[in-house]
Amino acid sequence: MSNTITEAAVLNKTEKGLLIGGRFRAAAAGRTFAVENPATGTTLCEVADGSAEDALDALGAASAAQSSWAATPPRERAEILRRAYQLLTERTEEIALLITLEMGKSLAESRAEVAYGAEFFRWFSEEAVRIRGDWTVNPGGSGRIVLMRQPVGPCLLITPWNVPLAMPTRKIGPAIAAGCTMILKPAEQTPLTALMLAGILAEAGLPDGVLNVVTTSSPGPVTEPLIHDERLRKLSFTGSTEVGRILIASSADKVLRTSMELGGNGPFIVCADADIDAAVDGAMIAKMRNIGQACIAANRFYLHADVAEEFTDKLTDRMSGMAVGSGVDEGVEVGPLIDAGQRDKVAALVDDAVRRGAHIRTGGKAASGPGYFYPPTVLTDVPSSSRLAREEIFGPVAPISTFTDEQEMLRAANDTESGLVSYVYTRDLDRAIRLAENLETGMVGINQGLVSNPAAPFGGMKQSGLGREGGSVGIDEYLEVKYVAVGVA
Ligand code: NAP
Repeated sequence: MSNTITEAAVLNKTEKGLLIGGRFRAAAAGRTFAVENPATGTTLCEVADGSAEDALDALGAASAAQSSWAATPPRERAEILRRAYQLLTERTEEIALLITLEMGKSLAESRAEVAYGAEFFRWFSEEAVRIRGDWTVNPGGSGRIVLMRQPVGPCLLITPWNVPLAMPTRKIGPAIAAGCTMILKPAEQTPLTALMLAGILAEAGLPDGVLNVVTTSSPGPVTEPLIHDERLRKLSFTGSTEVGRILIASSADKVLRTSMELGGNGPFIVCADADIDAAVDGAMIAKMRNIGQACIAANRFYLHADVAEEFTDKLTDRMSGMAVGSGVDEGVEVGPLIDAGQRDKVAALVDDAVRRGAHIRTGGKAASGPGYFYPPTVLTDVPSSSRLAREEIFGPVAPISTFTDEQEMLRAANDTESGLVSYVYTRDLDRAIRLAENLETGMVGINQGLVSNPAAPFGGMKQSGLGREGGSVGIDEYLEVKYVAVGVA
């Protein structure tokens, strides 16, 4: 089924300009860039191409709004978030269509992203009114230790293309709740969802200047001057570890507070005692969500030799039966990858593994255009030396290896610079706890292929990041703890 008319209507009603100080406007230099539909390779529309000058204007607006926004009663901030949650939920269909058009995932997945993304606003609307301090008698009894939590100040939020609604809401929600103003720099490939979100927040009553949006095709030159500007107090970034390192280095200049949600290389472990059907269900979610383009995607499968054949057969069956096509067509489960570069990278990783001795069980060959499609792929006997086992795949490819010794498997699972997520399927409680305690990742899914939850802290160890988003700690990333020493005679 084609959505041509609705597509035109949704594109037509989405803002295409920069949002600065409450007004959508063209870039100062009048430049625009094209937003592409990855299912067809055609241009959807043009969007304002912001410059450093525009970004500094946005910082000026955020800085001017900061003190009055910080003084806005928490209940008012909460109610804006709650209204935005409501509007997002009511408009699920049009937002989902926009996500699918610019990012490629199926409509069903885009609807799920709207539900997930909106939930951050509901969660943080509840947190806004529970920002607590502390009061203690100091140990010597001669004074009081008073702690208060205050908004950190204007924030720069940089988000990736793979989750174009929920990555912004996971940062905007706590920033609004804490009383921070902000500049959002969405990914070049998916600016439209961010612009629609900004319109919804304005409709929900967010005052001018609290959220500013700068879309651009030159992320480095546009964000660099902000990072070196003393008015900026916080950088929250979600994206690749490579860009995260650059931003951490730049942030050293002004000792800018940073939160970093970076790349993953998640192991998916199936033990000999696992419920295999449940493990296959979990693998389908952990591997195929977002067409494999997720930081928490299962990147390496470690199967106990006793169950490897059964699991592989069942996974191969499910993967080969998935409907591939344009995400706007109902029933499609696997959309295109984001661009030709990503498709070619996935193809190169698979080719490298096959050259080193891996066997293709299904898939393994990129489709010819239009669009950037790569089929669901299962590979067995993947050597640990192959690029597939070491790099973040960001595609619908499941590389399988087997193990018999738990300790050896654990060493292999932890043998990566990443530490975002791991998945374990076992019915043995002791083993589950042992593995959860010894896997070097910020999140562990036990008999569960989906760990994302706005009510839980999301984030990584090692080079997967700094800080946590969501849960009861998510708001702390946007708050300063101030200690007041009160002398008592
Ligand atoms: P990316 O290339 O690092 O880009 C992420 C964002 O940073 C985009 O907005 C990008 O702008 C911007 N950017 C790129 N270079 C920059 C620079 N020099 N200075 C400032 N900003 C810059 O990552 P991606 O390809 O969009 O996203 C995929 C990556 O994100 C994967 O590694 C994935 O694991 C990670 N991710 C992590 C999480 C998490 O929570 N841990 C969640 C989702 C994704 P442009 O779009 O203009 O390049």
